[in-house]
Amino acid sequence: MLAGPTAVGKGTVAARMRDANPDVWISVSATTRAPRPGEVDGVHYLFVSDEEFDRMIEQGELLEWAVVHKAARYGTPRRPVEEALKAGRPAMLEIDLQGARQVRQTMPEALFVFLAPPSFEELERRLVGRGTETEAERTRRLETAREELAAESEFDVTIVNHEVPAAVDELVALIRSGS
Ligand code: 5GP
Repeated sequence: MLAGPTAVGKGTVAARMRDANPDVWISVSATTRAPRPGEVDGVHYLFVSDEEFDRMIEQGELLEWAVVHKAARYGTPRRPVEEALKAGRPAMLEIDLQGARQVRQTMPEALFVFLAPPSFEELERRLVGRGTETEAERTRRLETAREELAAESEFDVTIVNHEVPAAVDELVALIRSGS
C-alpha cells in the first residue's frame, strides 16, 4: 500500500515500478475526476460518472473509497485486488491517507508505505512544476498534504522520494520481502 501527499511522485514511482517489475500488480482506481491530458481510461484510472461511483459503492464493489482534496471521489475496485492476491502476485494500491486507514481495518496484514517528499517546500515546488492544477486546487492540495505529512507515523515504513529510481528500488525490495 503506497500512500503519501499530493505531488510527492506516487504516480511516477508506481509507473516506473510497473515498467521494471511487470509481475507486481498495481491497482487501477476508479475516480469521478476528469482525466488530465495524457491519462488513459482503464490505465491510469477508471474514469466514472458520479452515478456509476454511487452504484459501485452500493454494490459493495469498492475495497475503500474517499473524497480526496474535497474535489472528487476515488476508490479501489475490490475484485481485481482479490484476484491478484489469489494468483499470488504482489499487489500494490496507490491511495490517500483516508483510504489507507480503511484498508488498515479490512486488510491489517498489508504493508503500509508512506512516500514522503524531501521537504514541504520541495513538494510545493513539484506541484507548481507539474502545472496541472489551478491555484485554488493547488492550495487545497497543499492543505491536504500538510495533514497527510502529519500522519506519517501511522505507516509501517517511510520512503523519502529524493530520486525516483532509488525510491522505486526501495519499494520493490519491500514488496518482494513481504510476498
Ligand atoms: P490525482 O487526482 O492527483 O491523480 O490523485 C489525487 C489523490 O487521490 C492522490 O493522493 C491519490 O493517492 C489518491 N487516490 C488515487 N486513487 C485512490 C483510491 O483508489 N483511493 C483513495 N482513497 N485515494 C486514491
